[in-house]
Amino acid sequence: MKRTEIEKKLRKTLDKDRFRHTMGVMYTAVALAMAYGCDQEKAMYAGLLHDCAKCIPNDKKLHLCVKHKIEISPSEQESPFLLHAKLGAYFAREKYNISDPEVLHAILVHTTGAPEMSLLDKIIYIADYIEPNRTKATNLPIVREKAFQDLDGTMLLILESTLEHLKKGRGVTDPMTEKAYEYFKQQSKEESI
Ligand code: FE
Ligand code: FE
Repeated sequence: MKRTEIEKKLRKTLDKDRFRHTMGVMYTAVALAMAYGCDQEKAMYAGLLHDCAKCIPNDKKLHLCVKHKIEISPSEQESPFLLHAKLGAYFAREKYNISDPEVLHAILVHTTGAPEMSLLDKIIYIADYIEPNRTKATNLPIVREKAFQDLDGTMLLILESTLEHLKKGRGVTDPMTEKAYEYFKQQSKEESI
């Protein structure tokens, strides 16, 4: 599907703020792809579609996962919004005709992160956090600067503050986020030796 067609569809299924965020992630992901020599078209499609299942009510998310035989983990059962990643990857393939496994994987891991993420995975994860419409996180100025200098260091910074934030609030911490954090922490230790 062409980018303009996807945009049209997304404008209908996402609310205004989510659509604005989506466009922000798309452009930021492409900019990061330019900086790090990643495929720009893949970054564009993954950025554009990463939240395509976000604006579905939680009960419907659960229902759709059951219907399409998408496995629901205990943390996803407790916080169904997490499912927009798995459902998003499913919709990207089924509704938006994206067959590229790298693009689908970047959508799949964009919420929790994962150990051994690919360059594209990291770019989407980071773009999601730093895109210009984001304002809440206090460390944004540092993260935004680092994003164009040190991709793995930026991953560690975001995962660390995400875990801190989740532990402070009522949010459920997905074990995958912990695993991703441990992976990037180990990575940075090895680099500094
Ligand atoms: Fe998301
Ligand atoms: Fe997002």
